[in-house]
Amino acid sequence: MFTLGVDIGSTTSKAVILKDGQEIRATSLIGAGTGTDGPGRAIEAVLAAGSLKPEEITAVYATGYGRKLLKNADGEMSELSCHARGVHHLLPEVRTIIDIGGQDAKVLSLGADGRMTEFLMNDKCAAGTGRFLDVMAGILQLRIEDLEKQAALSKQIVKISSTCTVFAESEVISQLANGVEIPDLVAGICQSVASRVAALAKRVGVKETVCMSGGVAKNGGVRKAMEQELGLKITHSPMAQLMGALGAALYAYDKS
Ligand code: ADP
Repeated sequence: MFTLGVDIGSTTSKAVILKDGQEIRATSLIGAGTGTDGPGRAIEAVLAAGSLKPEEITAVYATGYGRKLLKNADGEMSELSCHARGVHHLLPEVRTIIDIGGQDAKVLSLGADGRMTEFLMNDKCAAGTGRFLDVMAGILQLRIEDLEKQAALSKQIVKISSTCTVFAESEVISQLANGVEIPDLVAGICQSVASRVAALAKRVGVKETVCMSGGVAKNGGVRKAMEQELGLKITHSPMAQLMGALGAALYAYDKS
């Protein structure tokens, strides 16, 4: 039996097909989120990747910011529940999830059974989210996937002192005008996101093992800065950005 989870985010659409509630049959990721054709394309892509026809899918669950917009879904579930479920399925030892997406950041505490016991969220401010990184990458004319490489070349981190994205933008531009090295600036940008979200994590209370989920988890520069901020090792999964969709596919399996 195949179930499908679709995570309709602010910037990306993700889909996961699960076989018998256990094995990941196929995944897809489209760089267009809610209000676009991204969700439809993510579903087409995941079906093609799994060599499946729509009628072979027993149940579909939606999650993410745009989850209510998915027509023909059998149900929907919050991103918090889906990330917790997806992470617990793949990494049962995890007790703290730091999820940084395109427009918000969340920290979740999990019990040994994978149930969420506490959470905190920042959805009020772009600083400490993927949006901050996207804006900065734009100014520096770098691709978002190249920030990690650049941060790794840093010799002396340039700290970003502005806490507001708009002011930080001006700060980065003036640092560029001062001839600061790009890698040092990128390391500072990654550190700025990590320190904001680490503060949120400390308020929740950090229990090991800690993992990051969401698209920003792909950025090794932020992962490394987060490890330094929290003084512990962060577990990383190549499925980090797909955890919500995986959780939705697991909820779809429960209902099928
Ligand atoms: P949402 O669900 O809100 O659409 P995601 O969890 O998909 O958000 O995360 C999107 C963010 O992830 C982007 O804003 C970007 O900063 C970051 N991101 C996406 N792809 C990559 C990548 N390949 N490398 C580094 N960061 C990435």
